[in-house]
Amino acid sequence: MKLAIFSDVHGNLPALEAVRIALEREAPDRVWFLGDAVGYGAHPNECVAGIRRMAHVFLAGNHDWAASGRCSAETFTRAAREAIHWTSAHLQHEHAAFLAALPRTHREGPLRAVHATPGAPECWNYILTAADAAGCFREFSQQCCFVAHSHVPAVFVRTPDGNTRPAAPEHLVVQTGLRCIINCGSAGQPRDGNPAACLGLFDTRTGHYRLVRIPYDTTAAGRAILDAGLPPVLAARLESGR
Ligand code: ZN
Repeated sequence: MKLAIFSDVHGNLPALEAVRIALEREAPDRVWFLGDAVGYGAHPNECVAGIRRMAHVFLAGNHDWAASGRCSAETFTRAAREAIHWTSAHLQHEHAAFLAALPRTHREGPLRAVHATPGAPECWNYILTAADAAGCFREFSQQCCFVAHSHVPAVFVRTPDGNTRPAAPEHLVVQTGLRCIINCGSAGQPRDGNPAACLGLFDTRTGHYRLVRIPYDTTAAGRAILDAGLPPVLAARLESGR
């Protein structure tokens, strides 16, 4: 099975459109979306509707739950909080109800998926280092767990001797005995210095994983943010990928 994984679209319609075109080209059997359809960007309704059409699995992100009133945005940065208030005010009732009802985790054969961490997805913690990942390997029984939330592509592997180490985020072969935590980065607001949208592709038969980067019109996405009256910093960061 060819599986496509993406996350953190954050109301960025030009980025989502670029992902949609890439999915048409790659023709995966299944598409998983790991949360944060909204927040930051100017097109929350279009993004929720678009992702619902594309994805077989749609998980909750912290911005999805904050915008739909299911959790608080008080720990968010000021710009993120402002964007959540704007998003809540503009989100159609049907989409808000859909976001509030999203599951936090998905299990399928040897794979697990979650927006934040597998053991406590509701705490919205980040997996940024090998030490973070080492703790998380104890929290799921499957071979691989796909995560999101940090907006930074990353791969952590656990070898049969119990050591956890970071690996290159662009490509991995998941061999027998190896366990992994894979972050496919962000489609709508990458923070690794590369502004191109991120899309992960995993072949469950061969164990091959690769990260695809898809350039899109960041200027159009930024202009929509400014036109909506959202904080300008949210437009500027799309250009730099930070
Ligand atoms: Zn996010």
